[in-house]
Amino acid sequence: MRIILLGPPGAGKGTQAARLMALHGIPQLSTGDMLRAAVKAETPTGLRAKDVMASGQLVSDEIVVGIVAERIEEEDAKGGFILDGFPRTVAQAKALDVMLRQKGKPLDAVIELGVDEDMLAGRIAKRVEETIAAGGTVRLDDNAEAFRVRLAAYRDLTAPVSDYYRQTGQLQRVDGMAPIADVTGQIDTLLSAPAGASLR
Ligand code: ADP
Repeated sequence: MRIILLGPPGAGKGTQAARLMALHGIPQLSTGDMLRAAVKAETPTGLRAKDVMASGQLVSDEIVVGIVAERIEEEDAKGGFILDGFPRTVAQAKALDVMLRQKGKPLDAVIELGVDEDMLAGRIAKRVEETIAAGGTVRLDDNAEAFRVRLAAYRDLTAPVSDYYRQTGQLQRVDGMAPIADVTGQIDTLLSAPAGASLR
């Protein structure tokens, strides 16, 4: 199964991707996590991406498309994957289409987590509190200013990705404001619906 999760920063894509990974045994491919790992390891990509990410802006399509192209070739992704945080621009969505078409492996579902944008800053603040309480490292972009930039990038560059998949007839929406387990349930219902089932 090949799935894309869409939604603004703080919508819960990472949370749902982790749950779907456990349920379906397919890896969660988070471009945010991959980029943070590159920053930590100080790879050439990480060094290029670090300040852009900290400010809340998007890393270039070229870098991110390259990372995903390599990642989906890995053994664990052969049987499917959940993309979280990618595609984030229409150019990335088109590049993904080309990649998957070449492999003859179409997407099974594009699922958008619908959320109330007024609630998002509060969710990020909660993530910061929980991270600190657990003794973890707070993300460089989890602050009010970078969050404002992330939301603006979402509106300008990523919301059109939803329109793109709406036009291709692939976009499906769930209520991302429901409790975590309910959101997973809604997604699972979509994944097991007859139209989706025939694609698996
Ligand atoms: P969020 O909580 O905003 O969904 P992510 O962990 O997905 O955060 O991404 C964090 C940052 O990593 C983004 O603000 C951006 O700088 C960079 N990034 C992640 N995925 C992409 C992508 N597909 N294209 C460009 N930049 C990306």
